[in-house]
Amino acid sequence: MKSYDVAVIGSGPGGYVAAIRCAQLGKSVAIIEKYSTMGGTCLNVGCIPSKALLDSSHHFEDAVKHFDTHGIELPGEVKVNLEKMMARKQSVVNQTTVGIEFLMKKNNIEVYQGVGAFKDATHITINGDTSQEIEAKYTIIATGSKPSELPFASIDKERIITSTEALKLKEIPNHLIIIGGGVIGLELGQVYKRLGSEVTVIEYMDRIIPTMDKGLSKELNKVLKKQKFNINTSHKVTSVIRKGDNVTVTAENKKGETVTFAGDYCLVSVGRSAYTAGLNAEAAGVELNERGQVNVNEHLQTSASNIYAIGDVVRGAMLAHKAEEEGVFVAETIAGQKPHINYNLIPGVVYTWPEVAAVGKTEEQLTEEGVAYKIGQFPMRALGRSRASMDLDGFVKILADHTTDEILGVHMIGARCADLIAEAVVAMEFRASAEDISRMSHAHPTFTEAIKEAALAATENRALHI
Ligand code: FAD
Ligand code: NAD
Repeated sequence: MKSYDVAVIGSGPGGYVAAIRCAQLGKSVAIIEKYSTMGGTCLNVGCIPSKALLDSSHHFEDAVKHFDTHGIELPGEVKVNLEKMMARKQSVVNQTTVGIEFLMKKNNIEVYQGVGAFKDATHITINGDTSQEIEAKYTIIATGSKPSELPFASIDKERIITSTEALKLKEIPNHLIIIGGGVIGLELGQVYKRLGSEVTVIEYMDRIIPTMDKGLSKELNKVLKKQKFNINTSHKVTSVIRKGDNVTVTAENKKGETVTFAGDYCLVSVGRSAYTAGLNAEAAGVELNERGQVNVNEHLQTSASNIYAIGDVVRGAMLAHKAEEEGVFVAETIAGQKPHINYNLIPGVVYTWPEVAAVGKTEEQLTEEGVAYKIGQFPMRALGRSRASMDLDGFVKILADHTTDEILGVHMIGARCADLIAEAVVAMEFRASAEDISRMSHAHPTFTEAIKEAALAATENRALHI
């Protein structure tokens, strides 16, 4: 039987990064993945394929709607070749997953394909083509998550689908009904909206992206309505029925009235749940909580002292970069170091266009915590860069402590905000004040000038260009 310092179960962004960091720190490492490709949800059916389709559909929309304004004339009608678009997406996924295999080889990490199941706290059985057993001093559980389901909407993977199927449809839906106005629903909704589908979003809460700052929900709602999204908030879905190629979704609105929506596809995107099926966690003494997540302490250590857990399978945001930070954290903890993660400064991004991005506290959280804060907000439309590219929607909002001026939260919606948010993360890690940012030079003309202007606005209302 082969023996390792560390075994990692799951090869998503949490698992493969943990494996690399363990190897860098001199440990012998095995990684176990049940699928034939590495990279987990993120690389195979999550972050990467969704962004590939968002980019392709964005190009199509530009060609159809915006080229003419820019003085670009196309010889004929612009058409979508969905098969080719999907094939490009898949080749991006393949290149990325093969890249992880290369990284495993480069770092002398042994890859096992099969389902990893604990025999006890130091032995793991791997059930793949054959059954093998390995021994590990430490194990890192990085088994990720699966789409959550609604009890009355059985996923048939054809017409009633999750994000996994939505990323590989063979036709463009006529009418896509989306249950859940969160990140997945809006990103994939925008892909198909751009390709020509009618898109209806049904959200249980009183606003879309309900966990983000209210101002962002409001602005995104406004922009999506301009893009002809049909958005229904405060709607409780009660049934989803498929008959042939048609799907009927019934919901109850705020007034208690029954509303029905008829479409040809229904995407259920109501969150994701921790995945531990097949792991046999109890054999190792690893406890789960009432939500099915692996219970961990502040060191990400489970109830079995030599076993750690990271990423979507534990509490906190279900984000690839959060899983990666936790992978590094656990590897360094096992190596005897004292790492730290600032969970308050893990940014959240929605890759719609305009992009939505945030870090730190929302206004709602600061109000609830009784913190006195000031607001500096600057509209994208006031930037020269925005006018040049015609990306006029959105704003940057900075929330700073009323007394000390320390930046407590940054919330933005607009072109390229997914990248702009990095400036806010750096500033907040260094505990910058709004005035610090307002005194730093930002290249002109760039979208980053909105951050400087919002910081000026927070500093005695000194924005220059509004
Ligand atoms: P996962 O990536 O889920 O990996 C877990 C792996 O473990 C899987 O490969 C699974 O097969 C394997 N596994 C499970 N059980 C076993 C077992 N017993 N034995 C062996 N292997 C096992 N996040 C972002 O930050 N940015 C985005 O843009 C983004 N876009 C997304 C888009 C979509 C459509 C979806 C669904 C998710 C998206 N996410 C995004 C979320 C992101 O994918 C997850 O947060 C991330 O993948 C979590 O990483 P992980 O390593 O914890 O788990
Ligand atoms: P989500 O939590 O972002 O959104 C789910 C939405 O569904 C919420 O707004 C919720 O109020 C609503 N909802 C729940 N039950 C409902 C019901 N019965 N009827 C109507 N609405 C209901 O979850 P998601 O969009 O499924 O994404 C899952 C996870 O994947 C998220 O945690 C997210 O972090 C991650 N993800 C991240 C990105 C990104 O970083 N860009 C992209 C996609 C997914």
